[in-house]
Amino acid sequence: MTQRADVVVVGGGQSGLAAGYHLRRLGVDFVVLDAQSAPGGAWQHTWDSLRLFSPAAHSSLPGRLMPAQQGETYPDAGHVVDYLADYEKRYDLPVQHGVQAEAVRRDGGRLLVEADSGSWRARAVISATGTWSRPFVPAVPGRDVFTGRQLHTVNYRSPRDFAGQHVVVVGGGNSGAQIAADLALHGDAAVTWATRRPPRFLPDDIDGRILFDVATARRRALDAGRSDTGGVASLGDIVAVPPVRAARDAGLLHAKPMFTRLTATGVQWADGSRSDADAIIWCTGFRPALAHLAPLGLRGPRGHIPTAGTRAVAEPRLHLLGYGDWTGPASATLIGVGRPARDAVRDIAQLLSS
Ligand code: FAD
Repeated sequence: MTQRADVVVVGGGQSGLAAGYHLRRLGVDFVVLDAQSAPGGAWQHTWDSLRLFSPAAHSSLPGRLMPAQQGETYPDAGHVVDYLADYEKRYDLPVQHGVQAEAVRRDGGRLLVEADSGSWRARAVISATGTWSRPFVPAVPGRDVFTGRQLHTVNYRSPRDFAGQHVVVVGGGNSGAQIAADLALHGDAAVTWATRRPPRFLPDDIDGRILFDVATARRRALDAGRSDTGGVASLGDIVAVPPVRAARDAGLLHAKPMFTRLTATGVQWADGSRSDADAIIWCTGFRPALAHLAPLGLRGPRGHIPTAGTRAVAEPRLHLLGYGDWTGPASATLIGVGRPARDAVRDIAQLLSS
């Protein structure tokens, strides 16, 4: 059966909800399709000890401040899930959970969203599917010969799962540092942290609040034709959240330059020496989950869809939200997605009225 909505939002994590908030405010007829059976997007699946890198009030979606979590300056993922569930309810957002959009295609003057439970004809689509469902692992030689466990950030839960094991954590970003710290502080695993370049910790007094300001300033400079300020990457890669700081200060976070290959029983370093490992945890990032947009044929040479703001350049009825700086400064953060969501919805409202 084909249903109708002026706007279909694909994805009901924080980005889809921020879009929903603005669509609701403008009185647009819309539906949000979300593959998860419950609210909270990717936050439902992160590891137990994860803490936000900004205080609650600086991790808020439009309209409603995230309440503080008792006893915690930096809230945990469960707190974010509760906040998003409350947000969805408070604004009465029409989210259909457990619905996977499989394809978006052109259908006369409309876009047809084909999902596993039916289809929607829409005048515009906002894609807000995040990156969590597309973990990226680099092509390191020997990945197929290693006989131990290989996991990605998305599969890591707790140091309890690695008791007594030798674990190699790969990746010099926030996930790698936080997971290496978690293992080093709370378990009895032997941890080796491997990074492509020496880890760059941000100064201890810098958290997500400043990162957001820096990302915004960079976007403004670029949009105004001024020179690139370097953005967040110019400051460092790793926010020194309390557990990372504790592990670093206790001398437990030493990174080794990346190994050159995996062997059957572990890893081989650039000098030819080898270390045994029971498990490798790849904290090597994500790619945008855009498979449902393939029928539109919009992807550029680097895999991204060219956008002007959030609007797909070659398909003005499609907006992309929350995937990273290329869809709005800091748009892949709680506090950052509000502004691009507002702009996307304004643009769509104009399209609908024309
Ligand atoms: P998601 O939360 O992934 O939501 C997308 C939703 O779309 C999901 O429910 C998914 O199931 C659904 N979906 C996907 N494909 C389809 C489909 N085809 N059809 C229907 N539904 C679909 N940000 C901060 O602000 N502060 C932090 O401290 C912070 N820490 C982070 C730590 C880690 C380890 C990671 C990975 C990210 C962190 N982020 C942080 C970044 C960011 O807030 C998250 O990545 C956020 O989850 C992105 O939200 P989203 O709504 O865009 O995507």
